[in-house]
Amino acid sequence: MVIPIALRVRAFRMRCCCLSGAASARRLLMPARETEAIILKTFPLGEADRLVSFLGRSSGRVRGVAAGARRLKNRYGSTLEVLSHVQIWYVEKETRELVRIQQAELLESFHKAQSDYGLSTGLAVISEISEIILPEHEVSEPMFRLILLAVRQVEGTGDWNLPLSYFAFWTVRLGGWLPRFDRCSACDTPLGSKPASYDAHRAGLFCEKCRSSGMKPLHAGARSLAERFTNERLDRIEYVKLMQANVKELREAALDWIELHSERRLMTRKLLEST
Ligand SMILES: [Zn+2]
Repeated sequence: MVIPIALRVRAFRMRCCCLSGAASARRLLMPARETEAIILKTFPLGEADRLVSFLGRSSGRVRGVAAGARRLKNRYGSTLEVLSHVQIWYVEKETRELVRIQQAELLESFHKAQSDYGLSTGLAVISEISEIILPEHEVSEPMFRLILLAVRQVEGTGDWNLPLSYFAFWTVRLGGWLPRFDRCSACDTPLGSKPASYDAHRAGLFCEKCRSSGMKPLHAGARSLAERFTNERLDRIEYVKLMQANVKELREAALDWIELHSERRLMTRKLLEST
């Protein structure tokens, strides 16, 4: 399937190159592009089409239209499911913000996670965060790899708890929003083994003296887990029962920081409590 498409794309490019003159070039579409991508979100568009937001490895986050994707028989199959890992071909138009998606092929299936309600909740949070924090057309190799790693682990382990906590923590870290974990952000007192406090209104981690009312605790165990997340790859960390409370506490802190810095409430977050 790949070869005929690649040939078609090449033929299309050649046709574009053969034509000259600024006026005729303006009327034409830009040459077709191809990238490895992760589907972030899709929305119904009109009766037959889909609006698709994807993170291209070489293009950054791009929005485009997949014509006919809502028809019963369509050429996209299951490639446009949330967080599918695909190879995508699209055409940019000079005057429009949306690209035209020509074709997508599945590189890696996350069918189990996508079709299970509980697991798809974890995927929905990853998708919403990525959509909110990634600027359009900005390549982000670390986020691309992080999303793939997290989704693979949700699919492979059948549990989103550890992958989502790791994903949220690393998103905060890559965004440059991580406070110091060893000292109070206000008075610089070492936190030691005492719980630190945080909330979604003020950046930082605070000691007992500097905490505001309503702040939530981040215990020493959750802070050690953050250190583990910094130094170990997700697929090498075993999720054991003893870690559960720390995994959840670190995830909640990271989600609060994501909301604080993106100035957005995560709509999918409340679904986590019901699964
Ligand atoms: Zn303090």
